[in-house]
Amino acid sequence: MNWILLGPPGAGKGTQASKIVEKYSIPHISTGDIFRKNIKEGTPLGKKAQEYMNKGLLVPDDLVVEIAASRLLEDDCKKGFLLDGFPRTVYQAQKLDEFLASNGSKIDCVLDVAVDKNELMGRLIGRRVCKACGAGFHVTNMPPVKEGICDICGGQLYQRADDTEETVANRISVYEAETMPLIDYYEKAGNIKHIDGAKDLDAVFADIVSALGE
Ligand code: AMP
Repeated sequence: MNWILLGPPGAGKGTQASKIVEKYSIPHISTGDIFRKNIKEGTPLGKKAQEYMNKGLLVPDDLVVEIAASRLLEDDCKKGFLLDGFPRTVYQAQKLDEFLASNGSKIDCVLDVAVDKNELMGRLIGRRVCKACGAGFHVTNMPPVKEGICDICGGQLYQRADDTEETVANRISVYEAETMPLIDYYEKAGNIKHIDGAKDLDAVFADIVSALGE
Protein backbone atom coordinates (compact mmCIF):
# COMPACT_ATOMS: atom_id res chain seq x y z
CA MET A 1 0.00 0.00 0.00
CA ASN A 2 2.62 2.56 -1.09
CA TRP A 3 0.37 5.04 -2.85
CA ILE A 4 0.54 8.53 -4.36
CA LEU A 5 -2.37 10.91 -4.82
CA LEU A 6 -1.69 13.14 -7.81
CA GLY A 7 -3.84 15.96 -9.17
CA PRO A 8 -4.07 19.73 -9.57
CA PRO A 9 -4.68 22.04 -6.61
CA GLY A 10 -8.42 21.94 -5.98
CA ALA A 11 -8.91 18.36 -7.21
CA GLY A 12 -10.03 17.34 -3.72
CA LYS A 13 -6.86 15.43 -2.83
CA GLY A 14 -6.98 16.41 0.84
CA THR A 15 -10.59 15.26 1.25
CA GLN A 16 -10.01 11.97 -0.54
CA ALA A 17 -6.74 11.41 1.33
CA SER A 18 -8.55 11.59 4.69
CA LYS A 19 -11.05 8.97 3.53
CA ILE A 20 -8.38 6.67 2.07
CA VAL A 21 -6.15 6.67 5.17
CA GLU A 22 -9.15 6.01 7.38
CA LYS A 23 -10.23 3.00 5.32
CA TYR A 24 -6.78 1.46 4.88
CA SER A 25 -5.17 2.59 8.18
CA ILE A 26 -2.02 4.01 6.63
CA PRO A 27 -0.40 7.38 7.33
CA HIS A 28 -1.32 10.43 5.23
CA ILE A 29 1.84 12.26 4.23
CA SER A 30 1.17 15.74 2.90
CA THR A 31 4.26 17.87 2.33
CA GLY A 32 1.98 20.95 2.25
CA ASP A 33 0.69 20.05 5.75
CA ILE A 34 4.26 19.54 7.00
CA PHE A 35 5.20 23.01 5.70
CA ARG A 36 2.06 24.65 7.17
CA LYS A 37 2.81 23.08 10.57
CA ASN A 38 6.34 24.47 10.41
CA ILE A 39 5.05 27.91 9.42
CA LYS A 40 2.67 27.88 12.40
CA GLU A 41 5.51 26.93 14.73
CA GLY A 42 7.83 29.55 13.22
CA THR A 43 10.65 27.06 12.48
CA PRO A 44 13.50 27.92 10.03
CA LEU A 45 12.02 25.37 7.59
CA GLY A 46 8.61 27.10 7.87
CA LYS A 47 10.14 30.53 7.20
CA LYS A 48 11.94 29.25 4.11
CA ALA A 49 8.90 27.37 2.74
CA GLN A 50 6.56 30.33 3.31
CA GLU A 51 8.48 32.53 0.87
CA TYR A 52 7.59 30.13 -1.94
CA MET A 53 4.14 29.04 -0.78
CA ASN A 54 2.73 32.54 -0.51
CA LYS A 55 3.61 33.14 -4.15
CA GLY A 56 2.18 29.82 -5.32
CA LEU A 57 5.67 28.59 -6.23
CA LEU A 58 7.21 25.22 -5.47
CA VAL A 59 9.53 24.86 -2.51
CA PRO A 60 12.99 23.81 -3.87
CA ASP A 61 13.23 20.12 -4.75
CA ASP A 62 16.10 19.09 -2.48
CA LEU A 63 14.44 20.57 0.58
CA VAL A 64 11.14 18.78 -0.13
CA VAL A 65 12.85 15.47 -0.91
CA GLU A 66 14.74 15.58 2.38
CA ILE A 67 11.56 16.30 4.36
CA ALA A 68 9.60 13.53 2.61
CA ALA A 69 12.41 10.96 2.95
CA SER A 70 12.82 11.56 6.66
CA ARG A 71 9.04 11.22 7.15
CA LEU A 72 9.00 7.96 5.14
CA LEU A 73 11.65 6.48 7.43
CA GLU A 74 9.30 6.66 10.40
CA ASP A 75 7.96 3.36 11.70
CA ASP A 76 4.31 3.94 10.80
CA CYS A 77 5.21 3.94 7.07
CA LYS A 78 6.35 0.30 7.14
CA LYS A 79 2.84 -1.00 6.38
CA GLY A 80 2.31 1.53 3.58
CA PHE A 81 1.60 5.24 3.11
CA LEU A 82 -0.37 7.74 1.08
CA LEU A 83 1.64 10.61 -0.35
CA ASP A 84 -0.40 13.73 -1.07
CA GLY A 85 1.25 16.68 -2.83
CA PHE A 86 4.55 14.85 -3.20
CA PRO A 87 6.20 14.28 -5.63
CA ARG A 88 5.42 17.41 -7.64
CA THR A 89 8.29 17.34 -10.16
CA VAL A 90 9.92 14.59 -12.21
CA TYR A 91 13.13 15.18 -10.23
CA GLN A 92 11.26 14.56 -6.94
CA ALA A 93 9.71 11.39 -8.41
CA GLN A 94 13.12 10.08 -9.47
CA LYS A 95 14.58 10.81 -6.04
CA LEU A 96 11.60 9.12 -4.40
CA ASP A 97 12.05 6.00 -6.56
CA GLU A 98 15.79 5.90 -5.72
CA PHE A 99 15.06 6.34 -2.02
CA LEU A 100 12.43 3.57 -1.98
CA ALA A 101 14.61 1.21 -4.05
CA SER A 102 17.47 1.67 -1.60
CA ASN A 103 15.05 0.52 1.11
CA GLY A 104 13.85 -2.45 -0.96
CA SER A 105 10.52 -0.79 -1.68
CA LYS A 106 8.57 0.89 -4.52
CA ILE A 107 5.42 2.84 -5.39
CA ASP A 108 2.52 0.43 -5.99
CA CYS A 109 -0.14 2.78 -7.31
CA VAL A 110 -0.47 6.41 -8.40
CA LEU A 111 -4.00 7.84 -8.37
CA ASP A 112 -4.32 10.69 -10.83
CA VAL A 113 -7.41 12.72 -9.89
CA ALA A 114 -8.31 14.90 -12.88
CA VAL A 115 -10.56 17.98 -12.77
CA ASP A 116 -11.23 20.47 -15.57
CA LYS A 117 -9.02 23.55 -15.25
CA ASN A 118 -12.01 25.94 -15.32
CA GLU A 119 -13.44 24.29 -12.19
CA LEU A 120 -10.32 24.70 -10.08
CA MET A 121 -10.30 28.46 -9.43
CA GLY A 122 -13.85 28.50 -7.99
CA ARG A 123 -13.16 25.45 -5.85
CA LEU A 124 -10.01 26.97 -4.34
CA ILE A 125 -10.97 30.57 -3.68
CA GLY A 126 -14.18 29.40 -1.97
CA ARG A 127 -12.36 26.87 0.18
CA ARG A 128 -12.36 27.29 3.97
CA VAL A 129 -10.43 25.16 6.44
CA CYS A 130 -10.92 24.61 10.17
CA LYS A 131 -8.07 26.06 12.24
CA ALA A 132 -8.55 23.42 14.92
CA CYS A 133 -9.21 20.10 13.15
CA GLY A 134 -8.27 20.83 9.52
CA ALA A 135 -11.71 19.85 8.09
CA GLY A 136 -12.45 21.40 4.70
CA PHE A 137 -15.55 23.38 3.66
CA HIS A 138 -16.59 25.52 0.69
CA VAL A 139 -18.58 28.76 0.83
CA THR A 140 -21.09 27.56 -1.77
CA ASN A 141 -20.42 23.85 -2.55
CA MET A 142 -20.15 22.69 1.08
CA PRO A 143 -21.04 25.54 3.44
CA PRO A 144 -20.89 24.99 7.19
CA VAL A 145 -24.19 25.19 9.08
CA LYS A 146 -23.01 28.35 10.86
CA GLU A 147 -20.89 30.72 8.80
CA GLY A 148 -17.20 30.67 9.74
CA ILE A 149 -17.62 27.81 12.23
CA CYS A 150 -16.59 24.17 11.78
CA ASP A 151 -19.54 21.71 11.83
CA ILE A 152 -17.33 19.01 13.29
CA CYS A 153 -15.49 20.63 16.19
CA GLY A 154 -16.80 24.19 16.45
CA GLY A 155 -13.38 25.62 15.51
CA GLN A 156 -12.92 28.78 13.43
CA LEU A 157 -12.76 28.50 9.66
CA TYR A 158 -10.10 30.41 7.71
CA GLN A 159 -8.99 30.90 4.14
CA ARG A 160 -5.53 29.53 3.34
CA ALA A 161 -3.03 32.30 2.53
CA ASP A 162 -2.38 30.65 -0.84
CA ASP A 163 -6.07 30.35 -1.80
CA THR A 164 -6.27 33.89 -3.20
CA GLU A 165 -7.03 34.42 -6.90
CA GLU A 166 -3.51 35.50 -7.89
CA THR A 167 -1.75 32.70 -6.00
CA VAL A 168 -4.20 30.07 -7.24
CA ALA A 169 -3.54 31.14 -10.85
CA ASN A 170 0.19 30.64 -10.22
CA ARG A 171 -0.35 27.27 -8.54
CA ILE A 172 -2.38 26.04 -11.52
CA SER A 173 0.28 27.08 -14.04
CA VAL A 174 3.03 25.60 -11.87
CA TYR A 175 1.03 22.35 -11.76
CA GLU A 176 0.75 22.27 -15.55
CA ALA A 177 4.41 23.02 -16.14
CA GLU A 178 6.07 21.05 -13.35
CA THR A 179 3.69 18.35 -12.10
CA MET A 180 1.68 17.22 -15.15
CA PRO A 181 4.79 15.60 -16.69
CA LEU A 182 4.56 13.12 -13.80
CA ILE A 183 1.49 11.58 -15.45
CA ASP A 184 3.70 10.50 -18.33
CA TYR A 185 6.46 9.43 -15.93
CA TYR A 186 4.13 7.04 -14.06
CA GLU A 187 2.39 6.00 -17.29
CA LYS A 188 5.75 4.66 -18.42
CA ALA A 189 6.22 2.97 -15.04
CA GLY A 190 2.79 1.34 -15.61
CA ASN A 191 1.40 1.98 -12.14
CA ILE A 192 -0.98 4.93 -12.68
CA LYS A 193 -4.80 4.87 -12.41
CA HIS A 194 -6.94 7.74 -13.71
CA ILE A 195 -9.84 9.00 -11.61
CA ASP A 196 -12.55 11.45 -12.72
CA GLY A 197 -12.42 14.12 -9.99
CA ALA A 198 -15.44 16.00 -11.41
CA LYS A 199 -17.84 13.50 -9.80
CA ASP A 200 -19.21 14.06 -6.31
CA LEU A 201 -17.05 13.26 -3.30
CA ASP A 202 -18.47 9.79 -2.56
CA ALA A 203 -18.43 8.71 -6.21
CA VAL A 204 -14.77 9.76 -6.51
CA PHE A 205 -13.96 7.78 -3.38
CA ALA A 206 -15.78 4.69 -4.71
CA ASP A 207 -13.74 4.92 -7.95
CA ILE A 208 -10.53 5.23 -5.91
CA VAL A 209 -11.36 2.16 -3.84
CA SER A 210 -12.09 0.12 -6.94
CA ALA A 211 -8.85 1.35 -8.56
CA LEU A 212 -6.93 0.25 -5.49
CA GLY A 213 -8.60 -3.14 -5.72
CA GLU A 214 -10.15 -3.07 -2.22
P1 AMP B 1 -0.51 21.73 -0.90
O1 AMP B 1 -1.04 21.79 0.48
O2 AMP B 1 -0.13 20.33 -1.32
O3 AMP B 1 -1.40 22.41 -1.91
O4 AMP B 1 0.87 22.55 -0.91
C1 AMP B 1 0.90 23.92 -0.61
C2 AMP B 1 2.22 24.52 -1.08
O5 AMP B 1 3.31 23.88 -0.40
C3 AMP B 1 2.53 24.35 -2.56
O6 AMP B 1 1.90 25.33 -3.36
C4 AMP B 1 4.06 24.50 -2.56
O7 AMP B 1 4.44 25.85 -2.40
C5 AMP B 1 4.44 23.77 -1.27
N1 AMP B 1 4.68 22.33 -1.52
C6 AMP B 1 3.98 21.28 -1.00
N2 AMP B 1 4.45 20.11 -1.47
C7 AMP B 1 5.46 20.43 -2.32
C8 AMP B 1 6.32 19.66 -3.16
N3 AMP B 1 6.23 18.31 -3.22
N4 AMP B 1 7.25 20.32 -3.88
C9 AMP B 1 7.37 21.66 -3.83
N5 AMP B 1 6.57 22.44 -3.10
C10 AMP B 1 5.62 21.84 -2.35
